[in-house]
Parts: sequence; structure tokens; C-alpha cells
Amino acid sequence: MTGATTNADLHCHSTVSDGLLAPAEVVRRAQANGVDLLALTDHDELGGLAEARTQADALGLRFIDGVEISVSWGDDTTVHLVALNIDPANASLQQGLAQVRAGRDARARAMAAELDRVGIHGVYEGSLAYVGNPALVGRAHFARYIVAQGLAKDVKSVFDHWLAKGKPGYVAHVWASLEQALAWVAGAGGVAVLAHPGRFRFSGAELRRLLRHFKDLGGQGIEVVSGGHTAQQVGEFARLAREFDFLASRASDYHGAGESWTDLGKMAPLPEGLRPVWEAF
Ligand code: AMP
Ligand code: MN
Ligand code: MN
Ligand code: MN
Repeated sequence: MTGATTNADLHCHSTVSDGLLAPAEVVRRAQANGVDLLALTDHDELGGLAEARTQADALGLRFIDGVEISVSWGDDTTVHLVALNIDPANASLQQGLAQVRAGRDARARAMAAELDRVGIHGVYEGSLAYVGNPALVGRAHFARYIVAQGLAKDVKSVFDHWLAKGKPGYVAHVWASLEQALAWVAGAGGVAVLAHPGRFRFSGAELRRLLRHFKDLGGQGIEVVSGGHTAQQVGEFARLAREFDFLASRASDYHGAGESWTDLGKMAPLPEGLRPVWEAF
């Protein structure tokens, strides 16, 4: 399989975390959109993979087991790693992710208390109607509840007003360390890819420091093409992939209609001269 002819989409979400489609629906939509290599990468959770794989097998779509891991790096900075081609039965990965998930409930209660202070009430309880597994409750579920209450026009504006770092409902949280997350991925036989580097609000120097640290700890790839990246960012991350000798990934980060920058499989191709991460599978 060559890089240019593959419509790979190696990062997306289902109702198992904060996506809007069930795992099998994600697979069907991906295939209808022309994807021929798909990874489901729910946040901190492997629970959708079996259903997705069963559907992918039935449709003859090549499927890769994945997960997006929440990581704390430095002083209250959250970054996301996408782990690809992992063994979902690996015990240390499962235990590590369970540990990451365990912090979400207390965080959600603290966020709701902050929102209560600025006049937005009942968000913790209300958000639970929007999450399949309460242990996975997060900001996207909060945002959907707040939109449904008529307090904002869409999910993005909820983040802009209340949930992004520095806003009243944001609560600092400690996720996995970069060391832990990379050890879990390596132990499960996977490839670790830095997710959507264009979404982090880093200076160029900070991003290079993160990439160096990530590589030194065994990180192998970065998302050069991500649904949220501009064409200019794709060029910038292609250069960084070459400089650091990273494998290059291509991903929509699809969550659902109206909540995503790009639909499944509808991203730009990888720029020339990169090593596609799927050649490592
Ligand atoms: P959490 O893991 O609870 O911190 O939630 C992170 C999730 O919130 C991301 O994976 C996205 O689904 C969503 N998200 C983060 N920032 C934004 C934004 N600016 N607009 C819309 N959704 C966002
Ligand atoms: Mn998400
Ligand atoms: Mn992410
Ligand atoms: Mn994601």
C-alpha cells in the first residue's frame, strides 16, 4: 500500500467517548466517504474497538485499533497522543487508561462548580444525558448540554466562552505523563503519534521541545494532516516531520456533524516526501 493511493483516516471518535456516532456507524460513514484504512481512537478508552472491527470486517475495510490518550506535559499543558495498532488486550495499557479515566468524574464536578458560580447551573447532571459512559464525561458533553439549554449557539462558542483554558469553567487537571503514556503504547505494541500539533497554543520553541521530548521517549509520528490544520500548518508540520524523522499521520479527528472541521476521509493528502505512519503497520 503506497502513501499516495491510501485514503487513511487514523483518528476519530465514537459515542464511546465524545463522538456522536456509534462505533459501527463511524465505520459505515468512513467507508461511504471512501476511507480504506481507518483507526477509531476514542479518548482514553478501548471499548468501541470490537464493534468497529466487526463492522469493518463485514465491509472489507482495513481497520486499525487505536486510542487517543490525554497527557499532561509541563505546567498545566494538556497534549493528546494517538496510539495506533495497539493490542487492545494489553493489560498495562488497559490499566493505564482506567487510571486516566478515573480522574474525569472529579474534574467534571469541579468544572460544574465553576460554571455554577458564573450562572450556568446543573451542568454535571445535565451533561450525563450526552455521554454513553459517565466515566468518560468531558468538555464536549458539557458543551452539548449548554447548547441544548439555549445558552450558546454552538459547541465551539461554548469552548470560546467557558471551557477553553483561561475561561471560567476550565479546571486544571493531571492526566497521564508523557513517559507513562508512551510506555503503555510501546508495551501494547503500538505506534505513538502526536495528535493535532496545530491545536496546541505553543510557541515554535516549545513545540520543538515537546517533539524532542516525545521522540526521546519513543514517540514515532505526528499528525501532519489533521482536520483542524490549515494548509500552512500542514506545510509546517511536514517540515518538522522531516527534521525530526517522524512518521506522518493523516486524520480527520471527526466527532460528528456540526462539531468537526472535516468529515471522515475528507482531508488533504499527505505532502510528498514523508513516510506515512501506515507503512509501519
Ligand atoms: P476533554 O478531554 O474533556 O478535555 O475534552 C476535549 C475535547 O473537547 C476534544 O477532544 C474535543 O472533542 C473538544 N474540544 C476541545 N476544544 C474544542 C473547541 N475549541 N471547539 C470544539 N470542541 C473542542
Ligand atoms: Mn474529543
Ligand atoms: Mn485531541
Ligand atoms: Mn480526537
